[in-house]
Amino acid sequence: MRADLTIDLSALQHNWRCFRDLSSGVTAAVVKADAYGLGAGKVAGALASAGACDFFIAQTQEAEAVRQAIGSGGKIYLLGGLFAGDIDLIKRDNIIPILNTPEQIKLHKSILNNHPFAVHLDTGMNRLGVSPVDWASVKPHINNADLIMSHLSNAEDKTDSMNTHQRKLFMDLTDGMTPPRSLSASYGTAFGADFHFDMTRPGIGLYGSAVLPNIKPVVGLSLPVLQVRKIAKGAPVGYDGTWVAPVPSTIATLNAGYADGIFYALARGELHLFADEIACPLIGRVSMDLMSVDISHLAETPTHLSLLNHHQGIDSVAKTAQTIPYEVLCALSQRYARNYING
Ligand SMILES: *Cc1c(COP(=O)(O)O)cnc(C)c1O
Repeated sequence: MRADLTIDLSALQHNWRCFRDLSSGVTAAVVKADAYGLGAGKVAGALASAGACDFFIAQTQEAEAVRQAIGSGGKIYLLGGLFAGDIDLIKRDNIIPILNTPEQIKLHKSILNNHPFAVHLDTGMNRLGVSPVDWASVKPHINNADLIMSHLSNAEDKTDSMNTHQRKLFMDLTDGMTPPRSLSASYGTAFGADFHFDMTRPGIGLYGSAVLPNIKPVVGLSLPVLQVRKIAKGAPVGYDGTWVAPVPSTIATLNAGYADGIFYALARGELHLFADEIACPLIGRVSMDLMSVDISHLAETPTHLSLLNHHQGIDSVAKTAQTIPYEVLCALSQRYARNYING
């Protein structure tokens, strides 16, 4: 019996179109970290058939699956920057390095001259990119860049003044330059046209986080029931006996745990597993490969219970675990077979 991780490619395409329909510029797709764990090749292929031509990865080795999926036409931007050891892969998969420092801009000139490149300008996140103090010295050398980009640090809070501050700095520093510009990921794109520039770069919204009103869930996760037992009132369940049956109960043991990305912290909140439409509470601790669910109120013993579905998506699971939906997706175990539907 195996868990079933379902990835709905038509919902993914729908979500990409939601972003595309918002802006007049290019809508890219961020597929770093194996498309947030969902499979970069399948995801990039589906988005390319929906019309996406621009893809962002974080590390050079992520390009191969994307290049194979999208063919020779689309663009693959590398967020991690340019390092001499990556030149062969950059050429082979025709990757556009996003240059993050004056040194990388020099390196590009010396060993990859005429190969397309982009530049990341750091407008306040202090993480990656050319800092504003270095901008004047690099500006004259990057007029033939494919893209100048920056990244918002506080975009999950629309009211945060950092957003307008970064936007203004981006405008001021790139004023009059010819390359296309890009500032926003999913959240920034939702702010509206002022934040779109020539290209938007959504990631998490494509994968089902409700950044826009019409986003559809992409991921379904159904976990197999290994064993069912009836226990008496007062019987404890799981490590440390943190849950004790208040009445005679029926407990299902599922074959998934924190080794599969079902966070231990989920047991501190209220998580449900679903038998079709019926919610059943997670009880006790989450183990490495196992978890316990109270199914006393079900009429029939299920073979599987669903953790991610249209009742409970990546946003609500993240909230229960006090983390972010990005981590919920990236943690989804490689032990789960990925089952692509509606492709
Ligand atoms: C990850 C990332 C994105 C996508 O962000 P989401 O919040 O997932 O939409 C866009 N741009 C950069 C630079 C990133 O690192």
